Amino acid sequence: MEHNAIKRIGVLTSGGDAPGMNAAIRAIVRSASTYDISVLGIRRGYSGLLHGDMIELTGRSVDGLLPRGGTMLYTARCPEMHTEDGLEKAANMCRYMGMDGLVVIGGDGSFRGALALSQKGVPTVGVPATIDNDIVCTDYTIGFDTACNTAIDCIDKLRDTMQSHERCSVVEVTGRKAGHLALHVGVAVGATCTLLPEHTTDFHAGVIEPIRMGRLGGRHHHIIIVAEGYGSAQEVAVKVEEATGIDTRVTILGHIQRGGTPSAQDRVIATQMGYHAVKALMEGKRQRVVSYDGRNVTDYDIEEGLSREKHLDFGLFEVEQTVAT
Ligand code: ADP
Repeated sequence: MEHNAIKRIGVLTSGGDAPGMNAAIRAIVRSASTYDISVLGIRRGYSGLLHGDMIELTGRSVDGLLPRGGTMLYTARCPEMHTEDGLEKAANMCRYMGMDGLVVIGGDGSFRGALALSQKGVPTVGVPATIDNDIVCTDYTIGFDTACNTAIDCIDKLRDTMQSHERCSVVEVTGRKAGHLALHVGVAVGATCTLLPEHTTDFHAGVIEPIRMGRLGGRHHHIIIVAEGYGSAQEVAVKVEEATGIDTRVTILGHIQRGGTPSAQDRVIATQMGYHAVKALMEGKRQRVVSYDGRNVTDYDIEEGLSREKHLDFGLFEVEQTVAT
């Protein structure tokens, strides 16, 4: 396909929001307009696609977007996309609106929707954005760095009050079924221990003993990071308090981790990925997902990408365990 074969593309954000989604939208719109491609911004994810909820985006309409968290296009979940009728309707809407391609910014669920659409003849490219960094085909997802920084900022503040009252703080960090975010946060705040879904921790040896030893060595407060996918932070706190007698408090960071202005890393990677997505469509690629391996931005077939496996960085986990004691 020639570069100028693409005249119009659509872009939507879908699933959970992440800081840097706006930066990706901006990069897609600006790259497209540089190549004389018009862009339809589809609001509320696949739901907006099904209902024709779209706005024309120009280079100027994305001014000032780079530092803004969230997504200007709104995001939503759309159960209709799981039905044959819904998929057919979505593919027909793309054709009706004259879209030569669709960029889907979101997580692996959103990419399954993109895959299904591409199988119905709509060229699609996925751009990975989730604070959990749990998308298998890429080492990095837009929003992860900002979410780490937000969690660190909150925990640093918690530390002041925990230290003053000589308490133990159990902090639940998001991550769905994966511990990537919790591990990075645990390392960055110097947690006494970090509980992850990917690792079975002996509670006495891995949690109680480090707290006891810390106390004996003169430590006056403790921070335990619990990944969302590990289990209940509340139960962890009850067990710690029962075993140590230390006043133990739970903080669930929750949705606060999704907000805020994107970090430099998220702005830069979102911009690279957005540009790459437009180039991929211009090169006639279809059914692709953009990926970042720590050095380069590239793309994979969505089906192949989603079938890969992603492992926790156990090297980092070992470091975390070694320096925590
Ligand atoms: P995320 O993209 O963050 O993983 P979800 O898993 O909730 O979020 O998926 C977002 C949306 O993508 C869903 O509401 C649905 O519209 C669409 N989607 C998810 N899985 C599929 C699928 N297997 N087929 C078609 N569409 C899907």
